[in-house]
Amino acid sequence: MKPRILVIGAGVAGLTTALCARRAGYEVVIAADRFAPDITSVTAGALWEWPPAVCGHHGDEASLERSKAWCLTSYERFQRLAGHAHSGVHVRPAVFYFRSPIEANPLEHRKMLELAQHVRGFQWDASLAERNGVNPSANVADAYTHLAPMIDTDVYLRWLYGQVTSSGCVVVRARIENDLLAQQPGLLAAFGVDFIVNCAGLGAIELSGESMYPLRGALIYAHNDGGLAPRIGSAHLMAHNSAYGPQNMIFIVPRGRYRLVLGGLVEPNEWDTDLTLDNHAPVREMLARCQEFLPVLRNVSLYSNGTVRAGLRPMRHQGVRLEHQVGTRILHNFGHGGSGVTLSWGCAEEIVHLLDAMSTTATTAG
Ligand SMILES: Cc1cc2nc3c(=O)[nH]c(=O)nc-3n(C[C@H](O)[C@H](O)[C@H](O)COP(=O)(O)OP(=O)(O)OC[C@H]3O[C@@H](n4cnc5c(N)ncnc54)[C@H](O)[C@@H]3O)c2cc1C
Repeated sequence: MKPRILVIGAGVAGLTTALCARRAGYEVVIAADRFAPDITSVTAGALWEWPPAVCGHHGDEASLERSKAWCLTSYERFQRLAGHAHSGVHVRPAVFYFRSPIEANPLEHRKMLELAQHVRGFQWDASLAERNGVNPSANVADAYTHLAPMIDTDVYLRWLYGQVTSSGCVVVRARIENDLLAQQPGLLAAFGVDFIVNCAGLGAIELSGESMYPLRGALIYAHNDGGLAPRIGSAHLMAHNSAYGPQNMIFIVPRGRYRLVLGGLVEPNEWDTDLTLDNHAPVREMLARCQEFLPVLRNVSLYSNGTVRAGLRPMRHQGVRLEHQVGTRILHNFGHGGSGVTLSWGCAEEIVHLLDAMSTTATTAG
């Protein structure tokens, strides 16, 4: 019989990890103190992106290289899920715009050439800006497009939760306190498990003393039903470019069938998520920036309730921590920054491989 595991966290990392482990035959208990919609994963823009992502502060090369394999696994999974009516996953064109020719920036050029080999519907064409109605004042000089999964997180987290419970995972609301290593014997005994998988996002600061910080983001929710403004069927994105100020990213992504999210915001070390159009000028500027970039959005109608949702990207200085902590029964899967949805399936599958290896070692040793 396969071992029992405790997964800490019920965000996209924890639920996906639990589901993959359960499908691989493990007995799984999930413990979390917060569930959707009160978690970062629900606030995500939830666009699948080749690393480094548009909203990323990704600096660690080793983590970036591993991320490519993880995101490819997720690309394939999300494509399959797009065929399920209740998954909340849609595959649509995503268009990336640039203010200078892509070839002039070696990093962007390499990223484009890499992703072009793996995604469907790739096209490199500077005229995409004009064809898509981008304001000429945005000074777009180059662009490419490909098909990308875009996830309606409210629906998807509900679907994921349904999958874990119907597949037999046990879910408990519990807060795990203090250092995991110090508590390892107590937790293994209390939950009757053999291994612990830490998917706590920013909670890892407390659980494993990680050097992490929040990268606050926010999205504005608009109607995308063809009412006041034409329906937007593709995502439109332009990465942060310091030459144009600290908050100049464009993030316009259709969500589900009738919504659109507009962003994005990148504010390091800010913990307060109580942001509105009235109380935070950068949120108002974000809306104005998107409307300026894509003028058809000038008439867009915003949601009256929950217009703005803010969340904290769980950033770790060394990138994602996905490993078995040597000499312990603890595995880690956190620190996904602005790419936790993109990386979720790949990371979860790697955790299962690590669990399989540890289980074999434990059996052989025993
Ligand atoms: C505005 C914004 C836009 C984004 N856009 C994208 C995007 O386009 N694409 C993309 O891939 N990603 C995006 N992200 C990033 C993505 O949201 C995160 O990387 C991802 O949600 C992290 O998931 P998680 O499961 O690790 O964390 P969370 O969703 O924060 O879940 C953590 C879980 O751990 C639990 N927990 C923590 N500490 C404890 C404890 N001590 N005891 C018990 N339980 C605990 C919590 O209760 C929770 O259940 C975006 C994020 C934001 C904020």
